[in-house]
Amino acid sequence: MVEKVSLTFEQQEIVVLKKGGNHRRDFCVGCSQDVLFVTPEILAAITGLSEREIFRLMEAGIIRFVEGKRIYACPECYRRSIEQKAGEAEDGCGEITDDGVLRDTS
Ligand SMILES: [Zn+2]
Repeated sequence: MVEKVSLTFEQQEIVVLKKGGNHRRDFCVGCSQDVLFVTPEILAAITGLSEREIFRLMEAGIIRFVEGKRIYACPECYRRSIEQKAGEAEDGCGEITDDGVLRDTS
């Protein structure tokens, strides 16, 4: 007799943004709120996507961005796009706190 077992793993990650200039607080038109924008490099590290894929999502308007000395992408836009894909409500892949720490809430 074969017994089927279903296992669910939850993972929590904390990313600390120590390097100066890799994040910037600004208003996101897509999210209609102030968010902590991060460089595409950081967003790629957070999401596990390639930087190229992050830029593709920015060009497609899925992830909003602002330009300063560098380009900064909105992690909240990415989170919302994932939620929309999954058809889920609030809890997404993570949130970035004011001190630059990403908390994975999935
Ligand atoms: Zn946004």
